[in-house]
Amino acid sequence: MITGDAAYIKKINRSLILEKIVEEGMISRADISKATALTRATVSAQVADLLDEDLIIETQLEHTSVGRKPIMLSLNAKSGYSLGIDVDYSQISFTISDLLGKLVFEKSIECKSRAYEDILQILIEQINLLDEAYSDNRYGIIGVVIAIHGLVGKDEKVHFVPRFLWRSVNLKEDLEKACKLDIHIENNANMSAFAERVFLHHETNSLLCATIHSGIGLGMIMDNQFFRGNDGFAGEIGHMIVVPHGRPCSCGNEGCWEQYASELVFLENIKEERNLSSFTYSDLEMLVNEGDQEILERLDNYIYYLSIGLNNMINMYNPDTIILDGEILRLYPDSLKKLEAHLSSSISHYRKLSVSTLGKRTVRMGACAFAIKHFLRVSMLNLKYQEA
Ligand SMILES: [Zn+2]
Repeated sequence: MITGDAAYIKKINRSLILEKIVEEGMISRADISKATALTRATVSAQVADLLDEDLIIETQLEHTSVGRKPIMLSLNAKSGYSLGIDVDYSQISFTISDLLGKLVFEKSIECKSRAYEDILQILIEQINLLDEAYSDNRYGIIGVVIAIHGLVGKDEKVHFVPRFLWRSVNLKEDLEKACKLDIHIENNANMSAFAERVFLHHETNSLLCATIHSGIGLGMIMDNQFFRGNDGFAGEIGHMIVVPHGRPCSCGNEGCWEQYASELVFLENIKEERNLSSFTYSDLEMLVNEGDQEILERLDNYIYYLSIGLNNMINMYNPDTIILDGEILRLYPDSLKKLEAHLSSSISHYRKLSVSTLGKRTVRMGACAFAIKHFLRVSMLNLKYQEA
């Protein structure tokens, strides 16, 4: 009989071993034992279970030198799929990955409606379609993580989505009634931060990822865990006040950071001032390339406001790595250098500042990886970012 304690220890050992296998890509039983300080007998017993469950596979290495060919263990990427969903304004995007986070399939659906019932119906329909389409291996879809651009509580209830005007909806419960899969709801900035940590920044233990699009959100990973605050709403950094009695914000305050440093506000302001019917990122890029003086000055001013919030973030959290996910930073040459030039305080400390390179699918890849983490029951993942 396994007692409660023994079962708990077994679970922890299993996580340790799986984490090591995922981290190394390929590793022998002997090296797992060395790396985890677990006995060879414990490792062998756990590995036998994981092989039975089809979660790992064995590969015999070809060896030219004399000696035994080591048998290597790796995660069985093909035993299941993960589904990550990004519920963005006017577009819902779906990504299927294998168990190593490699892209298998993606699609986006335009959705003009903001009504909860409409979006719920699309999600139910698509999740069930994908559940059926991706059932050709042992586990099928191992879990679904849905990223919401708004406040998501620790209980995974959606508290508020500004652009949809959703208040207190229980998306998880509504989906679980209509779908058979394991479903989790997360905030989009958290999923971006998770993607950066899992796919690119393996070495860091404290990472901030600011997503700068229609608003500004912050995902924080400290000691391999999200920093969520009391209710789960931490990271609403766009509503930090940077200008007293400044521009009014939809949150009810004045002078919020995102009224000065979000991309939406930047593009909208130029559209209005120049009396244009639309003003897009590619319009902006064209003007930058043409050397439009007024636009370049506006961009420098934008960078300055961005640096104010960034300075505050750094002083609050003393992060190791900061990732900024924004299109304007990607298209404006030397944006990072210009930004760093404003961070001259002798108090501010961080090691690395970079602009996200994962692109539009960051949120969904983070969501896929988060579903894999839930499924494998490991504390963190280190995966390689690979396109299909
Ligand atoms: Zn605000």
